[in-house]
Amino acid sequence: MLQQSKIVLKGMMQQELQGWCKSVGETSFRGIQLFEWMYKKGVSDPNLMLNISHKFRGFLKENSILSTLKLELKTESQLEQTTKYLFKLADNQFIETVSMVMENRHTVCISSQIGCSIDCDFCATGKMGFNRNLSVGEIVDQLIYVRNNIANPITNVVYMGMGEPFLNYERVIKSAEIFHNPLGFNLGRHRITISTAGILPKIKQFINEEQKFKLAISLNASNNITRDKIMPINKKWNIQKIIKEVKQFSLLNRRRIMFEYVLMKEINDSPENAIELAELLSGINCKLNIIPYNESVGIYKRPDEKSLNIFLKILHERQNGYRILVRWSKGQDIAAGCGQLVYKEKIAN
Ligand code: SAH
Repeated sequence: MLQQSKIVLKGMMQQELQGWCKSVGETSFRGIQLFEWMYKKGVSDPNLMLNISHKFRGFLKENSILSTLKLELKTESQLEQTTKYLFKLADNQFIETVSMVMENRHTVCISSQIGCSIDCDFCATGKMGFNRNLSVGEIVDQLIYVRNNIANPITNVVYMGMGEPFLNYERVIKSAEIFHNPLGFNLGRHRITISTAGILPKIKQFINEEQKFKLAISLNASNNITRDKIMPINKKWNIQKIIKEVKQFSLLNRRRIMFEYVLMKEINDSPENAIELAELLSGINCKLNIIPYNESVGIYKRPDEKSLNIFLKILHERQNGYRILVRWSKGQDIAAGCGQLVYKEKIAN
């Protein structure tokens, strides 16, 4: 149920909380305490906020919302230490979040929108259509929930769940700032990766603002004919426009941008495609993540081992500036792999 008379505090930055505390007759120091309780300690029950007066705890209970998600379903993989969470939001919509533990790494893949408007033909979320942007609180609460639920400390966050983060730019950056803040999650900026399908004006903004979070761009094709087909956004901002921007960035800056390339059988996995891709990235200081496709919706298939190996061999032979990495998705037995996040039960109904 939406409690409209209450103010949603989850998602507010430190200064906003300080301002709100002052506006209700408290000191601005209370805002710092609230920030720590919510984000560093992950507490959303005012009764547990021990250094805050009884009176103000009562006021918080009456007048504020400190938690935006309810767990609907939790699914654990039998194959890996991967857990998928389905959360229900105040307006009865659903989002998914995935936690992946591998040795010392604990990566959480979070959603930034309900559905997605980009409509990549191979992506399950794209097939849902777009519903709405998530609030800062709804983005941050995903990580808070996982941190409270899984003992392994979170080491990395990736905005690679449902949605296009750069179409919810301000809130995504705010949430990433909370993850980075020492009184929040205290994660280094290089441990926070924002992945975009290629919203060029926002890539420019990100670069101009000198944001230090990691940037990943979903390239997924080596030429515009293929990219136009699988990612309609390419008709607006094509490969050359994106590469030009990234080249300038890599000259200005020592940080590496990451390109993601989802490898799909007979779509973008030929030796010619590998040569084109090597050509495109030649001389750019970047990382290339090859992601064998997770079969989910539509006609797309994962390439066989042989063509994957030939593709990689060509990239390695022609390697110039870029680093290559193959990323096998985790949690496929629970449909928690890249691009598989979609609330299936809803579709089944
Ligand atoms: N909209 C953003 C972030 C969400 S998708 C973006 O496009 O980057 C995160 C990554 O998963 C993207 O690189 C996307 O190309 C990839 N992806 C989508 N569906 C996939 C699938 N079925 N198998 C493997 N990767 C997929």
